[in-house]
Amino acid sequence: MSEANKTDAGRHLSKIMQNAYMDLHTRAKEGAFVVWIAINVPAELFYGFENLVYAVPESHAAMNAGKGVGAVQCEKAERIGYSMDLCSYARIDIGCAADGGRDSPSFGLPKPNLLVSNNNNCSLLVKWFDVHHREMGVPHFIIDVPFCYGPQKEKDRNYIIRQFYDLIQTIEDLSGQRFDWDKARQALDYTNRGIVHWKRFLSHARHRPSGITAFDSFVQMAPFLIMRGTPEFEAHYKLLADETEQRVKAGDFPVPDERYRLFWDNIAPWHQLRDMSSNLADSGANIIGATYTSCIGTVEGSFDMYPYDGRDPMRYLARTQNCYICPHGMGLRRRAMRQAVETLGIDGIVFASNRSCKPYSVTQMDQQKFMSEHLGIPSVMVDVDHADVRKYSKESTFTRLEALLEMIDAKRAA
Ligand code: SF4
Repeated sequence: MSEANKTDAGRHLSKIMQNAYMDLHTRAKEGAFVVWIAINVPAELFYGFENLVYAVPESHAAMNAGKGVGAVQCEKAERIGYSMDLCSYARIDIGCAADGGRDSPSFGLPKPNLLVSNNNNCSLLVKWFDVHHREMGVPHFIIDVPFCYGPQKEKDRNYIIRQFYDLIQTIEDLSGQRFDWDKARQALDYTNRGIVHWKRFLSHARHRPSGITAFDSFVQMAPFLIMRGTPEFEAHYKLLADETEQRVKAGDFPVPDERYRLFWDNIAPWHQLRDMSSNLADSGANIIGATYTSCIGTVEGSFDMYPYDGRDPMRYLARTQNCYICPHGMGLRRRAMRQAVETLGIDGIVFASNRSCKPYSVTQMDQQKFMSEHLGIPSVMVDVDHADVRKYSKESTFTRLEALLEMIDAKRAA
């Protein structure tokens, strides 16, 4: 069973998330400039403006799925003509916005003054934000991020930085507010210190038995998405890391009789977190890490944090456009997974072939072959959709997970 609601950090998370959405709606009503952003748009820049709030449709969509209304929102988008094959985050967001925020745990998102997307995770996202651009008549700023096969080239970094300057200018022109560099720098300091604590939290997966489950790390990602650049962000991850450390010291583990240390590849199955973690725990299995959470705060397939050096914020923000998995070529994906698997002492990998997120899933068969041939790690491929429960079968997923545990046993017995 997920530990999230049984811990101080879990309860604190619920409180700050509720406050964040209430504050978003209140400040929007009071006249703040509202920006909707894709997850990797550099949110810290927005704190350089006095009266601006930002919302993250992907995170809002994940919350809808986690609260059990993902399919309800998807169906609304499908009824107005959007294909069931589109990413479920996009369908949830488009369906929810078309229905005035109804059924959303946060009553939807306040209407934006500006949309800011980027194309480094996928091009679908740009098209999705374009739907809002057309339907709401709101400007759409697109950050073009070059695909990532290795360390970022200087010309790519400068190309991204120029777009960040354009973004600041665009907001100044549209909002009538002036940008303050000191405030943006301070926001980046909060983010940097918060990520140090996040990495400290994740490091407890190295312990045997693991001090965490990946399911709790999935839930705890939310502040990274919607409150980077704030003191609350830093304070929350400090609380999470400190509390986890104390629990490990006290011998309090989420799966005390851990016999199988598993690793997850792909976005979290938001509608199955509790069910999947409790069923696995009954078999002595714990998914202790995931590519989805270990990439936060890193760049280009590294396992360790890429820290902010306190100098030019634009250079740091441009480099960290390369943190997620989707923009990485095969070489970087292998590097990232190999480091995680070796560092955490993983026994088996669950590749979640995600019906929604094709860019995450498209390389998984090659990745699975590599992990088997080069590291001898057993793995299975399960079919999921991260936010649309209609595309998930518990029976077939658990048949394969049980097969994975048998493969691990067979390898140990050999
Ligand atoms: S397809 Fe994947 S990367 Fe693109 S918006 Fe959906 S979840 Fe994000």
